[in-house]
Amino acid sequence: MNILVINCGSSSLKYQLINMSDESVLAKGLVERIGIEGSVLKHEIEGMDKVVIKTPMKDHKVALGLVLNALVDEKHGAIKDMSEISAVGHRVVHAGEKFSESVIITDEVLKALEDCIELAPLHNPANLMGIDACKELMPNTPMVAVFDTAFHQTMPKASYIYPLPYELYEKYGVRRYGFHGTSHRYVCQRAADFLGKKLEDLKIITCHLGNGASLAAIENGKCVDTSMGFTPLEGLVMGTRCGDIDPAIVTYIMEKEKLNLEEVNNLLNKKSGVLGISGVSSDFRDIENAAEQGNERAQLALDTFNQRVKKYIGSYVALLGGADVLVFTAGLGENSISNREDICKGLEFMGIEVDPAKNNIRGKDAVVSTDNSKVKVLVIPTNEELMIAQDTLELVK
Ligand code: ADP
Repeated sequence: MNILVINCGSSSLKYQLINMSDESVLAKGLVERIGIEGSVLKHEIEGMDKVVIKTPMKDHKVALGLVLNALVDEKHGAIKDMSEISAVGHRVVHAGEKFSESVIITDEVLKALEDCIELAPLHNPANLMGIDACKELMPNTPMVAVFDTAFHQTMPKASYIYPLPYELYEKYGVRRYGFHGTSHRYVCQRAADFLGKKLEDLKIITCHLGNGASLAAIENGKCVDTSMGFTPLEGLVMGTRCGDIDPAIVTYIMEKEKLNLEEVNNLLNKKSGVLGISGVSSDFRDIENAAEQGNERAQLALDTFNQRVKKYIGSYVALLGGADVLVFTAGLGENSISNREDICKGLEFMGIEVDPAKNNIRGKDAVVSTDNSKVKVLVIPTNEELMIAQDTLELVK
């Protein structure tokens, strides 16, 4: 059974066609600049040169049509006919408090997701455009929605309520939702499997460290706290997002710099984080290079990032009453040897002991802690697409 996984952004569409009999990726690709000049589809098949198709794409439906054509193309296709796609799994960012698990997409589900647009105005409309395009182009293929927020719905109220007037929660749903849930769920299960343990028996802290970054505290396979909040702006220092700051700074800089709502939002989301501190880049590789060449602000950005992750790990160990497993994932978590080492340095007293030789790896499942380390420290490459495909298969079969 082949499952098509779709992840739509406002001007992009990422896809993977996965053969679920062996979970192999038959084809994958990315459409960029949908609805703007220079639309391009980059389509990849294992063992073949990447195919690049440049043609105007006015909306997601046109883009998806080109993707489906590419998938069945005689030369660079992966399947003969569209009927070989059994189901479509869609990544959807925000399900509010409505869904705590993946669901088959029905008209009621779509209505519920439209109600969540207010909570994720940048993401949900794009996700819904992808679903609409699929409904039109492949009306008889079942579809499933997999939500970034769903995994975190098990958080106890004390973890998700903000110390604001309670009516704001009741009236507007102002609470912690958490994001990257599909990734946290995937890596915690994979970590348990890798260690040959039952997920239900473990206290796990997962660190998803990419451009966006978040931690989750997981007990019995259920999320009990996570660092992102009402939006993906809270928590860790990120590529361009500030994470936790004193909220009074917002009104202060608005006044000093004469910023309106949109401008201050832009500053906190796009100009802050390690980019804001270093002034170099939002990409950790650039920052690491600059730091090596003696750029003090680049080093400061790395130190601030690592210190914030360390503080969250400490607080989650306290919250869980100990930890059995610490997992690093996503671009930086999987690849940055020095970040992992710096984050864990000094945590030996709580049983976290990284082995420099074992830690000298990138991008593969591995234990990187010493044999004596009470907490097993793991690197687990995330695979949100596979998680979406597995959920889709489970629901449609
Ligand atoms: P997202 O999906 O949120 O865009 P990723 O999970 O792809 O992000 O992570 C991107 C980040 O990972 C970038 O900042 C990049 O610099 C960092 N990264 C990727 N490879 C390496 C590496 N080898 N060393 C250090 N950082 C890396």
